[in-house]
Amino acid sequence: MGTCVAEPRTSQPIGIFGGTFDPIHFGHLRLAEELAESLELDHVRFIPTGMPPHRSRPRTDAEHRLAMVRIATANNPHFVVDAREVQLPHLSYTVDTLHSLRSEFGEQQSLCLLLGADAFLSLSSWHRWQELFLYAHIVIAHRPGFPQSTWKDAMPEILRDEIETRMANPQDLPNCPAGLIAARPITALDISATYIRETLNAGRNPRYLIPDAVLDYISNFQLYLPELP
Ligand code: ATP
Ligand code: MG
Repeated sequence: MGTCVAEPRTSQPIGIFGGTFDPIHFGHLRLAEELAESLELDHVRFIPTGMPPHRSRPRTDAEHRLAMVRIATANNPHFVVDAREVQLPHLSYTVDTLHSLRSEFGEQQSLCLLLGADAFLSLSSWHRWQELFLYAHIVIAHRPGFPQSTWKDAMPEILRDEIETRMANPQDLPNCPAGLIAARPITALDISATYIRETLNAGRNPRYLIPDAVLDYISNFQLYLPELP
């Protein structure tokens, strides 16, 4: 069980939510909303990736992905858009982003990196992944009825060891700045940006999977159309 010396609570934790957001969809928005509510986060910072290091180049320019995140989050006072990664002229690693957030918010602030269970399972392939815990907690959002005992089997041993040492109750997260792992169930929405891109690419309509205003933006800028041969 992960523990930390309880520091006086200075404020509510901040949620850090990175992604390609190519495009942002209701799966992302529900994750952020439900974790903001259940963990009583001060706010969730949506941080679109610039050029992601551990996957292929996003289909869409960072400026468009950023604009869609802004549109989708505009009417939620607990959502903040953070453009620091798209503004970088080079590859952005999560560990560097967390380091810069830690410098900005100070040593005492509890920071929670929010990850879907699929993203967490690949964590040990991330650049300097063990250093992430110096700067933030990790909160794993998993589908209800898909508890730790199930997904522990799916993860590399090195990650399982990290879980054994760091796993904590979500209510401990505000009491220390970084270093714990917690898991929370969220409503399962089987939506992926890949599916939305494929739908648009095939000339079909992904409405009701993404906000209408994001769909309008996609139409205006003619994004995700079939690529010319
Ligand atoms: P792609 O299909 O291009 O991989 P994606 O829909 O998986 O896109 P990402 O930008 O890769 O979206 O994911 C960003 C974060 O959102 C990750 O932590 C991922 O686990 C989480 N996430 C993505 N889709 C969902 C969903 N439907 N429900 C909960 N979390 C999700
Ligand atoms: Mg993904």
